Amino acid sequence: MKKILITGGAGFIGSHVVRRFVQNYPDYKIFNLDALTYAGNLENIKDIENEPNYTFVKGDITDESFINGLFEEKQFDGVIHLAAESHVDRSIEDPLAFVKTNVIGTMNLLNAAKKQWIGNFDGKRFYHVSTDEVYGSLGTEGLFTETTAYDPNSPYSASKASSDHFVRAYGETYGLPYVITNCSNNYGPFHFPEKLIPLFINNIINNKPLPVYGDGNYTRDWLFVKDHAVAIDLVFHHGKNHETYNIGGFNEWKNIDLVTVLCQIMDQKLGRTLGESAQLITYVKDRPGHDLRYAIDASKINTQLGWKPSVTFEEGLEITIDWYLNNQDWLNNVTSGAYASYYEKQYS
Ligand code: NAD
Repeated sequence: MKKILITGGAGFIGSHVVRRFVQNYPDYKIFNLDALTYAGNLENIKDIENEPNYTFVKGDITDESFINGLFEEKQFDGVIHLAAESHVDRSIEDPLAFVKTNVIGTMNLLNAAKKQWIGNFDGKRFYHVSTDEVYGSLGTEGLFTETTAYDPNSPYSASKASSDHFVRAYGETYGLPYVITNCSNNYGPFHFPEKLIPLFINNIINNKPLPVYGDGNYTRDWLFVKDHAVAIDLVFHHGKNHETYNIGGFNEWKNIDLVTVLCQIMDQKLGRTLGESAQLITYVKDRPGHDLRYAIDASKINTQLGWKPSVTFEEGLEITIDWYLNNQDWLNNVTSGAYASYYEKQYS
């Protein structure tokens, strides 16, 4: 019997990870710790809420005494840490919020795990889920590998880089058994519609402008979220302690090309004339410090753990778009209220 703490399991990626672990490992006890910020939503994991091996805990990772108490009470064997402030634009508005959750919150988890496990690290593992954005920006050539120097440019990526460094330091200094993965942009069901793909699907449905930053040439690698969850499962169970693995989709797109394809698929799905949705594309003022290109060399996880994406981008996009079209209540619920005011401020 393993007791696993998954943080951020009511968010986008975390909900897919929690679902996978609850369904695939009936002998584990899965504890999902989430503060339910604007990005956390229990609707994302409603289908598993009554499973006998699942417990939801509402709580904030920045609350040190709460985190220490939780570890003392539950005696976890493993931690898969996803809880974070995750949106770059929000980090530009309020960097300190990102330091509090992403750095201090991670420190609280590291300290609690160290305190509980020190003296007997057997069978224990602290898994930090991180981003390729810690590596900074690439030019038009090259790929990020696990040995690329960290060079973060946004407050978000600086906070994730900082927490990665602390995780590694706890491994080197105290022997804490850890793994870190740095993954490219995810997409898929339950993605909060402030991020590019769900934002644009939602705006196309509602005939609202599609705000493309700068000249649209920013390039990102995209990975279907369920393939990220499979990779996390593999690394958690079979990755080597004190190692980092890059995870990517082998799937680079310029933003403007991605938006154009999205518009074409949406025209078809909504019965619009081809080219109708693309008329909504609007170039907006660039994000400060915007990284030109991210691209991942995922050959280490591929050769050492046998992982590769299971769906093509075309298949993943089709699943994603159909999910949003069939779940417009979910979309409407998360885009009303506080998010509506944020959106107005961001794009007015
Ligand atoms: P998300 O914003 O959708 O979800 C974050 C979750 O963390 C939410 O449920 C939120 O309620 C919770 N949370 C936030 N602050 C908290 C706090 N102080 N205490 C407890 N819970 C808190 O994020 P996501 O896109 O699912 O990303 C999950 C993780 O994966 C993050 O660590 C992110 O850096 C990393 N990551 C994301 C991507 C991506 O493309 N989305 C890519 C690579 C890595």
